[in-house]
Amino acid sequence: MAVKGTDIVKKLPESGKKNCKECGFPTCFAFAMKLASGGATLDKCPYLAPNVKEELEDALAPAIKLVTIGPDGNALQVGNEEVIYRHEKTYFHPTGVALLISDKEDDAKVDQKIAKIKDLQFDVVGLTLKADLLALQYESGDKAKFEALVKKVCQNWDGGLVIISDDLDVLFSARDICADRKPLLYPITKDNIEKAIPRIKERPTPLGVRASSVEELVPLTTRLKEEKLDELVLDPGSSNLMEVIRDQTFIRRSAIKQSFRPLGYPTIGFPCYIAKDGLKEVLTAAAMVIKYTSIVVLSDFEEYTLRPLLTLRLNIYTDPRMPLSVEEKLYEVGEPDKNAPVLITTNWALTYFIVSAEVESSKVPSFLLVKDAEGLGVLTAWAAGKFTGDSIAPFVKRSGVEDKTNTRTLVIPGKVARIKGELEDALPGWEIVVGPREASEIPGFLPGFAAKLKS
Ligand code: SF4
Repeated sequence: MAVKGTDIVKKLPESGKKNCKECGFPTCFAFAMKLASGGATLDKCPYLAPNVKEELEDALAPAIKLVTIGPDGNALQVGNEEVIYRHEKTYFHPTGVALLISDKEDDAKVDQKIAKIKDLQFDVVGLTLKADLLALQYESGDKAKFEALVKKVCQNWDGGLVIISDDLDVLFSARDICADRKPLLYPITKDNIEKAIPRIKERPTPLGVRASSVEELVPLTTRLKEEKLDELVLDPGSSNLMEVIRDQTFIRRSAIKQSFRPLGYPTIGFPCYIAKDGLKEVLTAAAMVIKYTSIVVLSDFEEYTLRPLLTLRLNIYTDPRMPLSVEEKLYEVGEPDKNAPVLITTNWALTYFIVSAEVESSKVPSFLLVKDAEGLGVLTAWAAGKFTGDSIAPFVKRSGVEDKTNTRTLVIPGKVARIKGELEDALPGWEIVVGPREASEIPGFLPGFAAKLKS
């Protein structure tokens, strides 16, 4: 439950009546309302007593903590979710997919798995879908062997790691090899927590907390929070799919509906332990992606299992309020020269991919200007006032197209032929040509048009 501005204002100086404006807001009340909506931060008010500040920080913290695993620039972020159901708003941080490597596996298998996580990447609507983490498991009983595995993986993989060991000495010696990568250390349990705390505090990194039930997690996370260790990922110890769904739902509802802080953390699930069969394993992982699990650990994957799982993840974690869109910028199709045609369209991903594919199939290297229209198609964007002469002209100017080409002829989609006049007024020095209504007509149009430009 989000804290209300009317509750926050009572905690502000002089019960919210100081109104000194030093925070940049005209009143304490305005500042409180902005805090409640996430549009301001507490440090803007210099008069908050430390205990009040701490209380408000806690009240304003997200229901599920954001946890970052992995090195800067290649880290996985999980948590910070705000809703139970995706249709209420959106889910923000997609489930991380981890590939398990045991130190019992031979060198060839380890090399194959490292190569697999690097190679199995799929480009879909301008996004790269890929697995995120390597989970290294100590099973051999040979500490030196496990350390050698950690070092080898660090030399050959620049992403995030999960270190799995029931032996605390091995866990922390592996942590020390790769501490700069912020690995997730797993598991912290009721049996090792007190011994682990001083070692964790030497070089804090995210922690995977394992229990045999959701209830058993509560004292563990509470204890770690007392020690100011709250980069936590929860494992309620679910041993089959029914328990996964029950436990994950309970944790999510407790965190979001009840604001129950001890369960307000992302979670981890192990399809690799729950399902023995490869296909059942990926189906279990799929259920976990749907039911709130923040990280899933797989014993192995192939293209035919990983791609559907990542596609499912993409669908679940795509904002239902926003059409898929691509970046607003000047795209080059082929290797266009100074006399190449210049076309323009909107940034709805489907529009962009269809238009760019048709330009490519015309075999005429071209410049394609893609204007931000909040992910709308051409006609809808025009109707919404986001693809008009007045908005297109400044984009053409700042896109840099005028430095890359001598061409001063812009092809607009035939469906918005009516903006030709206003665009000519807004873009002096450019000739505006009405192109095909349908993208499928581009291959028939572009070669002749390009030839005319050159003549
Ligand atoms: S700085 Fe603090 S006391 Fe002053 S108006 Fe803002 S919230 Fe109120």
